[in-house]
Amino acid sequence: MIKVENLTKYFGTVKAVDDISFEVKQGEVVGFLGPNGAGKTTTMRMLSGFLSADGGKISFGGKLIEDDIINAQKQIGYLPENNPLYKDMLVSEFLELSAELNNIPKEKKAEAFNFAVSSTGIKEIFYRPINELSKGFKQRVGIAAAILHRPSIIVMDEPTEGLDPNQRAEIRSLIRELAEDHTIIISTHVMQEASAVCDRMLIINKGKIIADGTTDELSRTGENEQSIFLDVEGDGVEQALQNVAGIKRVEIKNTEGNRIQAEIIADNSVKIQPDISRLIGERHWVVWKLSEKERELEDIFRSLTK
Ligand code: ATP
Repeated sequence: MIKVENLTKYFGTVKAVDDISFEVKQGEVVGFLGPNGAGKTTTMRMLSGFLSADGGKISFGGKLIEDDIINAQKQIGYLPENNPLYKDMLVSEFLELSAELNNIPKEKKAEAFNFAVSSTGIKEIFYRPINELSKGFKQRVGIAAAILHRPSIIVMDEPTEGLDPNQRAEIRSLIRELAEDHTIIISTHVMQEASAVCDRMLIINKGKIIADGTTDELSRTGENEQSIFLDVEGDGVEQALQNVAGIKRVEIKNTEGNRIQAEIIADNSVKIQPDISRLIGERHWVVWKLSEKERELEDIFRSLTK
């Protein structure tokens, strides 16, 4: 459905997107994950035809978007970052404007409005001023505007950013509903978000794709490391742990006097628990907690983007 080959974009000397290639199948929900400045927005803007690439190709259904940008834009609905809405307008007026910008013919407008309004659940606020709406509803209005022209692909740049947990959950469930008959790409910083709604994730860092896979596949990457959580009280803890053979790094999470909570990262091939226990005995430390930490997606993300 979507094929991206060797896509590259510079801003001056900054290589915002660096030779990336990926494919998205019809009906797939793909998450772009990455830290600030990774290149997610730039990639999404190129996919949506709002920004031209400096190198590489994008095609939808085998057709290069640059060969017929108008047709490509018909196939894609784009919700930009920070959802720019005209806040002084009523929701109805904003959707009218969006319909005009998308060249929706007059006779098709009612049908388009019905579809977008019912899909996003904004009937009750259709005649309300945008500036009076909650953030969650504003986001729904932005999504309604993006799908008004019935695109088959929806690209959403950080659709849940700035929402409270309830609003986040509502927008996630809206995305899941839209996923039933759309191909969707969303960007987010939040791993849980991506794993909750996406079939697949692309992890982007410094303009490059550094991992591509399902939640399960990604959680198996970097399995060569183990992580132990230690909450211990005593003198010289950090230094002593760092000197234990096999420990790759000690990440201090919290300190309170000489009590330290730390995550200890070591190679999977070595058994470091006996050495830690010995050290605890020798130094007469007080152990508050010692546990093996489950690898979470956040850890994988952190180790991949470090
Ligand atoms: P965020 O999560 O903060 O939105 P992002 O992953 O979407 O980040 P981009 O916004 O694509 O990242 O930015 C990628 C790089 O390109 C950054 O270094 C950014 O400063 C730079 N950049 C993006 N847009 C422009 C622009 N219009 N002019 C100059 N530099 C830009």
